[in-house]
Amino acid sequence: MAEGRLFVVAGPSGAGKGSLIEELLRRYPTAWLSVSATTRRPRPGESHGAQYYFLHEDDFRSMASRGEFLEWAEVHGNLYGTPRQSVLERLQKGCDVILEIDVQGARQVKEKVPDAVGIFVMPPSLGELERRLRGRGTESEAEIEQRLSNAREESKAAREYKYVVVNDDLRRAREEFCAIYENESPLLRADKKP
Ligand code: 5GP
Repeated sequence: MAEGRLFVVAGPSGAGKGSLIEELLRRYPTAWLSVSATTRRPRPGESHGAQYYFLHEDDFRSMASRGEFLEWAEVHGNLYGTPRQSVLERLQKGCDVILEIDVQGARQVKEKVPDAVGIFVMPPSLGELERRLRGRGTESEAEIEQRLSNAREESKAAREYKYVVVNDDLRRAREEFCAIYENESPLLRADKKP
């Protein structure tokens, strides 16, 4: 059976990575989204094992020291990490694995898995990003400020990625995102062979 490929999706918080990935998962049963661990508190509607594994910092750090994360990083004052074992298992079982992680984590993955496909999602502008973050209403004012200042920094990392998708028009961005996946997935390419 063909092994899957790792796709790393990064970009500033509020750039719309979530909606693009949601569409990808809806269209392609070959794609699987990894569930990360985090020390941040769950937001209303989030539950353990669905959006994240919500861990206490001590537990997170012991997992990290045992090498159980493929990558991990501190983002907006909390720790986030990708559980290594479940990712490797899915790849071996013939799934493409999607990681939605920050730019520090993406660099670590690129070093460990050079074959991973990097996709950077850009918000159309910082003004638009601010509008979206405020519209979402899930962060406090201080958190919004921190996310905007991180976004300024993170946007500079776009050049490190093979693909950059500008999310100015959701419908167009979705098609572009899915086309990248179709081109780069070894599983879909295998399907196309006569
Ligand atoms: P949020 O708290 O809004 O869910 O996520 C905040 C940021 O953490 C986002 O930029 C997201 O991509 C990043 N993130 C989520 N999971 C991981 C992970 O496993 N590793 C790293 N390095 N970043 C992550």
